[in-house]
Amino acid sequence: MKEKRVYTFGNGKAEGRADMRNLLGGKGANLAEMNLIGVPVPPGFTITTDVCNEFFEKGKEVVIGLLKDEVENSVKHIEELMNSKFGDPDNPLLVSVRSGARASMPGMMDTILNLGLNDTVVVGLARKTGNERFAYDSYRRFVQMYGDVVLGMKPVNKEDIDPFEAIIQDVKKQRGIKLDNEMNVDELKLLVSRFKEAIKKQTGKDFPNNPMEQLWGAVCAVFDSWMNERAILYRKMEGIPQEWGTAVSVMAMVFGNMGNSSATGVCFSRDAATGENRFNGEYLVNAQGEDVVAGIRTPQQITKEGSLNWAKQQSIDEEKRRTKYPSMEETMPEIFAQLTAVKDKLEKHYHDMQDMEFTVQEGKLWFLQTRNGKRTGTAMVKIAMDLMHEGEIDEKTALMRCEPSKLDELLHPVFDKEALAQARVLTRGLPASPGAACGQIVFFADDAAKWKADGKEVIMVRIETSPEDLAGMSAAAGILTARGGMTSHAAVVARGMGKCCVSGAGAIMIDYKSRIVEIDGKVLHEGDYISLNGSTGEVYYGEVKTKPAEVTGDFAELMKLCKKYTKLVVRTNADTPHDAEVARSFGAVGIGLCRTEHMFFENEKIKAMREMILADTPEEREKALEKLLPYQKQDFYGILKCMDGMPVNIRLLDPPLHEFVPHDRKGQETMAQEMGVSVQFIQARVNSLSEHNPMLGLRGCRLGNTFPEITAMQTRAILSAAIQLKKEGFNPMPEIMVPLVGIVNELDEQESIIRKTADKLFKEEGVEVSFKIGTMIEIPRAALTADLIAKKAEYFSFGTNDLTQMTFGYSRDDIASFLPSYLEKKILDVDPFQVLDQHGVGQLISMAVEKGRHTRKNLKCGICGEHGGEPSSVKFCHRVGLNYVSCSPFRVPIARLAAAQAAIE
Ligand code: ADP
Ligand code: MG
Ligand code: MG
Repeated sequence: MKEKRVYTFGNGKAEGRADMRNLLGGKGANLAEMNLIGVPVPPGFTITTDVCNEFFEKGKEVVIGLLKDEVENSVKHIEELMNSKFGDPDNPLLVSVRSGARASMPGMMDTILNLGLNDTVVVGLARKTGNERFAYDSYRRFVQMYGDVVLGMKPVNKEDIDPFEAIIQDVKKQRGIKLDNEMNVDELKLLVSRFKEAIKKQTGKDFPNNPMEQLWGAVCAVFDSWMNERAILYRKMEGIPQEWGTAVSVMAMVFGNMGNSSATGVCFSRDAATGENRFNGEYLVNAQGEDVVAGIRTPQQITKEGSLNWAKQQSIDEEKRRTKYPSMEETMPEIFAQLTAVKDKLEKHYHDMQDMEFTVQEGKLWFLQTRNGKRTGTAMVKIAMDLMHEGEIDEKTALMRCEPSKLDELLHPVFDKEALAQARVLTRGLPASPGAACGQIVFFADDAAKWKADGKEVIMVRIETSPEDLAGMSAAAGILTARGGMTSHAAVVARGMGKCCVSGAGAIMIDYKSRIVEIDGKVLHEGDYISLNGSTGEVYYGEVKTKPAEVTGDFAELMKLCKKYTKLVVRTNADTPHDAEVARSFGAVGIGLCRTEHMFFENEKIKAMREMILADTPEEREKALEKLLPYQKQDFYGILKCMDGMPVNIRLLDPPLHEFVPHDRKGQETMAQEMGVSVQFIQARVNSLSEHNPMLGLRGCRLGNTFPEITAMQTRAILSAAIQLKKEGFNPMPEIMVPLVGIVNELDEQESIIRKTADKLFKEEGVEVSFKIGTMIEIPRAALTADLIAKKAEYFSFGTNDLTQMTFGYSRDDIASFLPSYLEKKILDVDPFQVLDQHGVGQLISMAVEKGRHTRKNLKCGICGEHGGEPSSVKFCHRVGLNYVSCSPFRVPIARLAAAQAAIE
């Protein structure tokens, strides 16, 4: 059978379905589905994503040959349903050519509208519709889009103005008008001819007149756009594989620019920023396609409620609102009712919040797109919980609907209430994407990225944003635009990124050249601080203090659901009582890694630590350790108390000692004085600690085995803190972890020191506390001999940072020199220090778990590397049967959700 490359839809029938999105792209699949459920959609057809791959393999000519018959038949199919003909001046059919990948990539690829027009067809269109202005407005838009997208007229350099826009500006200036829709027929005709001249001049070719030739050009351009820079960047950011390809949908045009009973708009079934169940959207009368999001005219609200709120935010009085910016609910009540009904139908059908595009042509409503709407993290959680309560989805679906990494946003700081009360409001815009942000003003995407790389927080301030600004937006803490509504590029992309955004702040005036922004007469320069509240649209002067987020409401409910379904529990990596406290509030049920080395860096402690390291004899060393003991005990007391009744896994001293000693002359002199020895002596000791390869040198349990006094002191500190807590009525649960074990004998040696110290202490104190001794599995040899190690270890904790380092043979500290080129060349797909390498490192983990449990049946296993908070790695940990993952406090909720999802999957 011949391979099917094209799928038609129209008039309540379709060859595709919603679940064919891999083949038809999200847009194509949903256009088919909307037909099937009786939503009015103009007829058309979709060329599959497979053809996109064929296009890049076999080339343009071959693919056109393969598609020819099917595309021609499908055009006939549209012609029949629309009762008009492609290229027929008496009764012309016009089409749009649209791209659509599996995952939605808003604004990533270019759409061409009004295709099929030429100098004769436009005359026919004017005659047929009796609307010459409309015909020429459509024509000039088509030539412009086709020129930009297919004929390569779009300027390469972002500072250059689009040649067509320049012509429009020029014509408007000559005729003394401001708005695009004020142009009359003659001016529109003039635009068409000047556009074509510009094309001829720049490309040396005539604008194609033949509609089929236009169509092929457009189809190929959509495929080509899959490989354009901004599409590649977006895929990279969202982790979308190149092989997915884009589909091409071709469909009959419907016209929102046919006069005052026509309109075009976008709408959301719920609030994409807050998640509230509130229908909202924007529309423009007598407009086409992207006009609403392009920010050229001010879009109006769909609902009256939305319109009233908008007017308030913009300080527009009711009289002006009603006459200049009325809602669709007020101006087109019947259409509004139909729109609401379809919105309800689509949401019920997809069981999710929908983001829809529609056009009204002379009083008839058409749908052009629906998709599950992008949303903020807050909205994601609220919508999932609401749909669950409404009975639309069950608990498991609600959990699966939430993207773990997006919870990050809910954990970000919000403005401190008191600081906010003091803050001075500069101006207001639209609350486009919630959150609080403050930083220094920058105007350009590259600057945003550069400043961020230098460790600065920046707010990107733009008249409006475009896909070229993506990298900058992703680097910025927040985005402020002068133009554009709630569905503008800035708003949609910021919400997708979970980034704070205030859009359409009409009172700001930006001068890119001199890099200043004027707000109500006040001039701010690049580098000045401002703060944004993306939830209210307020813009503040200077830095406004923020405070940490809390787990309440829907978020708390989601976390409760996680608890119900999860098998894997989540602990935290914490070295201080404060971190432990934060993690507990996020639901951590213990500490999976408490590093002791960080505790040594404060004033007095570092001195004692240095004395210990620089000591020449065991006696001197013990004397220094005596000084350290009370500090350590106090630190452990704090953490164990904060984690009362929960396990706290404390790792014995791990890093190479040279990290603690002074390397500068002044520090060495101070040390010499403190210890009453010569500077030369200190220098000699420091030099003797230097190693060629410290990561593989005297560190981990090698320290405790070389200097057993250290292990003894730390054990004493941990257990005496626990004893004190026990005496005070608490329930401390310490676990003592020996790092960097490769040979069971290393652990054996450490274990006997720990036990001996413990026995002695318990006898002295007359109190015993129970504790466990475990080890880190972070050297491949430990994983290979896990059965032997489990004889001594009561638990395993996989230290996947070191394990990755030693399995790959990549130095963690030097990877930056080759990682970028490895990622570029696809030698590596991801940084293995961020995403666990399941094939290699993962194999060592699953083997060690199995071997370890062979020796000790209920051996508790966990992970404490960076990977413990990365969703795909957490899911892997679930599958290989670990008992817990441990991650930094702010990743605890993310790991909890990933763990619950793993259990459901
Ligand atoms: P994107 O994926 O960037 O949203 P779309 O393909 O959805 O691009 O199209 C851009 C704009 O053109 C949208 O506003 C859409 O509704 C409009 N549009 C697309 N096809 C048609 C059509 N056949 N008739 C009228 N408007 C259309
Ligand atoms: Mg669209
Ligand atoms: Mg380690």
